[in-house]
Amino acid sequence: MRYHIWTIGCQMNVADSQRVAAGLERLGYTPAARAEDADVMILNTCVVRQQPEDKAVGRLNQLKRVKDRYPDRVLALMGCMVGLKEAAALQARFPWVDVFLPPSDPTELWALLAERGHLDEAQTLIADAEARRLALSRVDTILPPSEQAHVVSAHLPIVLGCSHACTYCVIPYRRGAERSRPPDAILAEARQMVAQGVKEITLLGQIVDRYGYDLPEFADAVETPLVTLLRRIHEIDGLQRLRFLTSHPNWMRDDLLRAVAELPKVCEHIEVPIQAGDDEVLAQMRRGYTVDDYRRLVARLRELIPGVSIATDIIVGFPGETAEQFQHTYDLLAELRLDKAHIARYSSRPLTVATRTMTDALARAEKERRRQALDDLQSRILEELNARYLGQTVEVLVEGKNEAKDRWFGRTRTDRLVFFPADGDWLGRLAQVYVTWTGPWSLIGEVSTR
Ligand code: SAM
Repeated sequence: MRYHIWTIGCQMNVADSQRVAAGLERLGYTPAARAEDADVMILNTCVVRQQPEDKAVGRLNQLKRVKDRYPDRVLALMGCMVGLKEAAALQARFPWVDVFLPPSDPTELWALLAERGHLDEAQTLIADAEARRLALSRVDTILPPSEQAHVVSAHLPIVLGCSHACTYCVIPYRRGAERSRPPDAILAEARQMVAQGVKEITLLGQIVDRYGYDLPEFADAVETPLVTLLRRIHEIDGLQRLRFLTSHPNWMRDDLLRAVAELPKVCEHIEVPIQAGDDEVLAQMRRGYTVDDYRRLVARLRELIPGVSIATDIIVGFPGETAEQFQHTYDLLAELRLDKAHIARYSSRPLTVATRTMTDALARAEKERRRQALDDLQSRILEELNARYLGQTVEVLVEGKNEAKDRWFGRTRTDRLVFFPADGDWLGRLAQVYVTWTGPWSLIGEVSTR
């Protein structure tokens, strides 16, 4: 019996897919490289923009042929395409899909497999309503055994859903209201991951710095709840590195910044989207801060966290964005010289305030021109920033090997991708790498003997 999971979208989906794989392996399934060869096929989907949604629909249409030929095989659709409410409509549109799974909740798959003969084993995986709401699963099923030997870096969701309601964003409609997972459950999962060979954990949330504000445990807390959680996870023996993403600028308090600086395992890398560099656009996006607030945050990050690297997200072509407003974003990106920028063309999403009340009139070609301009700018900035690594020795956590090029690869604490050739097995080890070449997207070096 074999399974195949196709995943698109954010790290949250990657974490969900891993958990489903772990459950399937417990039922005796083994991974198949191609969906066409699998008894259970799962598509884990993203709808944050139109493009990933189109890809999932394309994949669904391809798999219809497999289902027509082998009706006994199971096809499951999971993730944000399904959301909390879309299953019935999707069932009418894609009747060849057997089961629809909301984000972080594979329970219906276990129920189906229980019916199909895995009765006792699958029943043990079925969660009750509260566990489903918080994506709590049995702690021995976090990573699938087939991955345990080689997963060095893993994602751990700590905040599910989102209640911020940025006007462009579909996530609250698909992942539901914000809810923090209990700290003890998170800690148990983190320990389990480390016991299974993981060296680096990235804590996930749509607004990860809002962790814990909805939990009774932290009702009287003076310290930022995420700081308390970081400290507890930090104590796990064998864990080498700890990260968290995505942060919202309004919740980045100084004690969190200080904790990043003070806790040696917490990497000095912060993902904090600005989305636009113009106050009017930010207000229409309902982000809740101004460009100056963000400038001050960047200054605070750089002051309190030595050597910090900062990543951001930007949307170009938001409804009504003028050439002048776009120029403000361009100028701000040039001024801040951040370490990474994910730049996306605005994509109108169903139900969002922007889609209901604003006109998405800008031509796709103009959106693309703006995206490309920011990409080119950021690439030049990165080329300059990365050139500073030349001749330096950096610490790299080795995540894998590119067999074709016979080079190991991994990341610096500041999230730079580094390649280096070396004999022996470096997987999961910390390598000191002397950098001999730098480009905008990666560095190359050799294991340092100095
Ligand atoms: N919750 C985080 C936040 O917004 O701060 C990030 C989550 S979202 C999956 C990742 C990125 O997708 C966002 O930061 C935003 O730049 C982009 N995005 C979200 N909705 C979009 C839309 N309608 N069109 C284009 N990009 C979008």
